[in-house]
Amino acid sequence: MDRNRGLACLRESAASWDVLVIGGGATGLGAAVDAASRGYRTVLLEQGDFAQATSSRSTKLVHGGLRYLKQGNLSFVRESLLERNRLLANAPSLVRPLDFIVPLERWYDRPILGAGLKLYDFLARGQQPHLSRHLSRAETLGRIPNVRPGALRGGMLYSDAQFDDARLAVALAATAAAHGAVVLNYCRAGTLLREGDRVVGVEAHDVETGEIIPVRARTVINATGIFTDELRRQEDPTAEPILTYSQGAHLVLPAEFFPGDAAMLVPKTADGRVLFLVPWLGRVILGTTDTHVARAEMEPRALASEVEFLLEHAAHYLDRRPGPGDILSVYAGIRPLVTAGKSARTAAIARDHTVLVGTGGIVTITGGKWTTYRKMAEDAVTRAAEVGGLPSQDSRTATLKLTVSAPDASGRESPLHPGLQLTRGDVLRAVQAEQARRIEDVLSRRTRSLLLDAAAAVAVAPAVAEVMGAALGWSPARLEREVADFLELARGYQLRP
Ligand SMILES: Cc1cc2nc3c(=O)[nH]c(=O)nc-3n(C[C@H](O)[C@H](O)[C@H](O)COP(=O)(O)OP(=O)(O)OC[C@H]3O[C@@H](n4cnc5c(N)ncnc54)[C@H](O)[C@@H]3O)c2cc1C
Repeated sequence: MDRNRGLACLRESAASWDVLVIGGGATGLGAAVDAASRGYRTVLLEQGDFAQATSSRSTKLVHGGLRYLKQGNLSFVRESLLERNRLLANAPSLVRPLDFIVPLERWYDRPILGAGLKLYDFLARGQQPHLSRHLSRAETLGRIPNVRPGALRGGMLYSDAQFDDARLAVALAATAAAHGAVVLNYCRAGTLLREGDRVVGVEAHDVETGEIIPVRARTVINATGIFTDELRRQEDPTAEPILTYSQGAHLVLPAEFFPGDAAMLVPKTADGRVLFLVPWLGRVILGTTDTHVARAEMEPRALASEVEFLLEHAAHYLDRRPGPGDILSVYAGIRPLVTAGKSARTAAIARDHTVLVGTGGIVTITGGKWTTYRKMAEDAVTRAAEVGGLPSQDSRTATLKLTVSAPDASGRESPLHPGLQLTRGDVLRAVQAEQARRIEDVLSRRTRSLLLDAAAAVAVAPAVAEVMGAALGWSPARLEREVADFLELARGYQLRP
């Protein structure tokens, strides 16, 4: 991965690319991997950083999804479980099995949930890390010790998986590049290039320099997540919107509020969602909410009502209850939900994905979830190859191992901050090998410092800026501006700045 080389390649490429992917979240990066590994000449444009929008703000679960089972969407659960197992095999250092416990408070929960989980095991086609089983009250409290013993009757244990979403996105970018794709962050797809009605490319805007480079391609994929309708309307001003937006917020808490190695799932909250408490990178994630929002935003902020909702629900289940002062970080993301114009309660809208071809020939892929990104990408690239008249090639990603760079394990460097496992070497690696361009790329996505401890990330930002500035040739004024921009961003992750 080398941004300068990628830009040079874009400038010098007189011939049409085979596939142009717009959007560098889970779906677009997956499409770039799929297209490049089929042998198509592929370029991907991302207007911000890889995974900057929804794909770095998930609950970090690679799962079938119990709530989809409850909705009766068995084919989606089955597909998700199959994809989960592929990810466990293809990126084992980023995706790991995780035990989940559902606390039981009423006698009749046990047989109903037990039957549902047997079906879940069955849908995984014998590929569950282990089968679901009942836990006694004592066993439940042994595995998730801070749960309020009061009304607890016992629990149900089942297995799923968790991951580091932004790191997986970087692994996808690296894998696409390893197969010859050009993947560019901070490069926006602007005006569409047309031949008659047909879209044959875009003007790529280098967000850093303002340079505009025309990029022609035989087929174009719209993988812009919550911004899908914007691009569709550029293609066809009469296109009806197909998305509705649902915001989900998460709180990150010290691990002591949920010690142990298992996660907890509460099947039904007041707004009809499932609630998770998930151990992650030495902290615990509490989430999520489901709040309808009117607009797509790159940097959504958690609402006070969402924080309140999460703390209230945690208080119902936890013996030692977290308060606002215990929150290390709060982050929010927006789900792109496909409604095709129908109004519905956002928690009840199906998460299956949609592929459609617009009047200009752009192939739009949206909906779905992180867990199913590979299948979404495969479906989009297959359709795009048909639309662009590319030679037919089967997808190879079902068993393709992802390129994952290992963190510096030498252990010789001391961390830049006592509260974070972040070294100078990590910052340099992010800049030199992973296309990190801004402080937030390093602190929010190449490492997860901003999510793990927002105050520590603020404290370490000037040191990170020094290392980045030296590597990227920032002037003192630029360095100052970058720090100021990061501090402004980090305010949104701190309950009390
Ligand atoms: C709160 C929450 C929790 C979730 N939890 C889970 C979970 O635990 N497990 C799971 O499987 N899924 C989960 N999901 C769903 C999952 O995160 C999303 O389905 C997935 O990240 C969507 O990826 P995407 O690539 O389609 O969109 P995005 O990640 O939003 O990517 C689209 C990209 O397109 C770029 N873009 C837009 N316009 C342009 C342009 N003109 N030029 C260039 N680039 C452009 C944007 O900058 C953006 O980066 C969760 C979602 C939310 C919101």
